[in-house]
Amino acid sequence: MKKKIVVAGSSNTDMVIRTARIPRPGETVLGEEFLMAAGGKGANQAVAAARAGGDVTFVARVGDDLFGRQALRGFRRDRINVDFVGIDRRAASGVALIVVGRDGENSIAVASGANARLSPADIRRAEKAIASADVLLLQLEIPLRAVSLAAAIAARNGVRTILNPAPARPLSAALLKNISLLTPNESEAEILTGMKIRNRKDGERAALRLAQRTRTVILTMGARGLVIASGSQTEFVPAFRVRAVDTTAAGDVFNGALAVSLAEGSFLPQAARFAAAAAALSVTKWGAQPSAPSRTEIIRFIARASRPKRKEKP
Ligand code: ADP
Repeated sequence: MKKKIVVAGSSNTDMVIRTARIPRPGETVLGEEFLMAAGGKGANQAVAAARAGGDVTFVARVGDDLFGRQALRGFRRDRINVDFVGIDRRAASGVALIVVGRDGENSIAVASGANARLSPADIRRAEKAIASADVLLLQLEIPLRAVSLAAAIAARNGVRTILNPAPARPLSAALLKNISLLTPNESEAEILTGMKIRNRKDGERAALRLAQRTRTVILTMGARGLVIASGSQTEFVPAFRVRAVDTTAAGDVFNGALAVSLAEGSFLPQAARFAAAAAALSVTKWGAQPSAPSRTEIIRFIARASRPKRKEKP
């Protein structure tokens, strides 16, 4: 039986332009390619979790417009339960403008629209689904009041909650005490701790600092890999080596796959490896949701990466 994952969060339409490099303020850079795809951290993580093998319910708001309807069609295609995706008649669907440089790095501006109106009442409507979930997965692209209420309902019902603190903002002790696992990337961890992260050692120090404020932390460090911190212990899990073409939703795919693996009962390092494999596959493809791999792809990729390399003949 598939495990139940509830994701409460944002849904956007991403408009991506690929350029030689990301423009500086005031500068125009002529782009090479344009791509429009479904995005938003909540939706990306919901889709990633569904493809990784979860039974996913998404709690969100979209506008009563073309983008919103298109997003809903996409969720249904991935067999995501959309009973709690509200259609807002007063705000437009969220939109993100993304520029991706040739090295795969990106720069993003978001108009939140309907996402900013996801309310505690919307969360309350999904209370039964949250209470009976195996894992609740949250990010910070919706109002903090909604995030906090979802985490409180989960905690009250003994449901494990993953908070991907993106985009970073200060987090209260009251919210953190309801979180089982915090998953910042390097820049989010820098904002949350005030520490500079230049290398793996810095990452371990920052993850330990954050682990003092919540139970367990996975600090993701892009192509380097990730640090798991719990109590005074850390463990480093290296990233899989791939050729990156678009790193836009690496963290989202990571979190979606992580939720599924943890819900299935994997221990953290094993779940982190499954998630890192899903994320590595995603950076080899364009777009946020289009790049999220299926469970079969993830399992095959891990099997291939685990096979001992044949020695070259001299
Ligand atoms: P975000 O997308 O939130 O900035 P990261 O860049 O830290 O998050 O990526 C999350 C995870 O995705 C990493 O821990 C790593 O496992 C994987 N990942 C990201 N970028 C790459 C890459 N270039 N090659 C291989 N794996 C990657």
